[in-house]
Amino acid sequence: MTVPLGMPQLQASLRAVDRPVFDGLRDRYGRVATDLRLSLTDKCNLRCSYCMPADGLPWLAKDAVLSAEEIVRIVGIGVRVLGVRELRLTGGEPLVRADVVEIIAALRTANPELPIALTTNAVGLDKKAVALKAAGLTRINISLDTLHPETFEQLARRPFFDRVLAGIEAADAAGLGPIKINSVLMRGINDADAPDLLAWCLERDYELRFIEQMPLDADHGWTREGMVTAGEIREMLGERFRLSPDPRARDGAPAERFQVRARDDEAVLGTVGIIASVTEPFCADCKRTRITAEGKVMSCLFSHEEVDLRGLLRAGASDDEVASLWQDAMWLKPRGHGMDHTGLGDADFVQPDRSMSAIGG
Ligand code: SAM
Ligand code: SF4
Repeated sequence: MTVPLGMPQLQASLRAVDRPVFDGLRDRYGRVATDLRLSLTDKCNLRCSYCMPADGLPWLAKDAVLSAEEIVRIVGIGVRVLGVRELRLTGGEPLVRADVVEIIAALRTANPELPIALTTNAVGLDKKAVALKAAGLTRINISLDTLHPETFEQLARRPFFDRVLAGIEAADAAGLGPIKINSVLMRGINDADAPDLLAWCLERDYELRFIEQMPLDADHGWTREGMVTAGEIREMLGERFRLSPDPRARDGAPAERFQVRARDDEAVLGTVGIIASVTEPFCADCKRTRITAEGKVMSCLFSHEEVDLRGLLRAGASDDEVASLWQDAMWLKPRGHGMDHTGLGDADFVQPDRSMSAIGG
């Protein structure tokens, strides 16, 4: 494959990808990515210990971050040329980006049928929920790890618990439901909150999903022994609720869903999801492709390779050239992340340099 003249220097090893010509975002193991996670910013107003260091990280310079126009162009290439069917906007904290509502409105105008979701910590959402809905946002996932303000402050290192609750209520009132709540459990800090969080979500008709803590914290403090596993989460929930497999097909979704009952002979109260990325990985069914805030393609959260689309866009490349580089990056998607015990490289697992906030979770 040739690099067009006038293009910036691309990662040579990746640019020279020897791959067949095909449609869509395929990889060497037969997977096709149709679900795009795009980060709007690396900045955040919380400092969750499983993600960011207490002092934050050096933020990207303003002109390093994709502009609204560049985001709309990349998503358009994804949808029109590469078969992207779903978009999730994330970060960092996407709501700290001043033009978040305008970006969603522009994406909606350009892609009337595209499901557009947002993952947020909900700080400031109370003021933006109505505008986000009006701009065309389809649905929202909100992170909430505890129902105790002191525990929230300990985990997120900011006293914003009430603001998060206000954000959740506003999103619900604005019609951004069904609201999904994401929780990461940390041993000895908020793991005992798991059943209360589930009860709280069931009462409000929110769908709770527990995410196993992954080694994507900037402090590199994750340990396999320290993380709370999906098995432990099922056990803790089982002390108060009856969980049974949700009959709906999983269809590549990261969360394994369970129906929840108070007792075996009682009606279903709702569902709960468990995203067991570490101990029960779902890499073989992964449909995701990621773009960081500065326009790098990451084929996997744990990828050590990144491919720069921003440089190509700014050098005046055509849509087909951008699409082709994106396909190159995805072709090299690793088979598995290697943290599990499936024999896909457990011994070789090396935590990536980027934290979750700098990738876009
Ligand atoms: N700031 C927004 C938020 O917190 O929802 C969006 C970005 S955040 C990186 C996206 C999701 O990643 C959140 O639900 C968060 O709980 C999760 N997350 C962050 N670090 C994680 C880690 N080390 N392991 C598992 N999930 C993590
Ligand atoms: Fe910020 Fe989200 Fe990371 Fe927490 S998980 S520090 S809210 S990016």
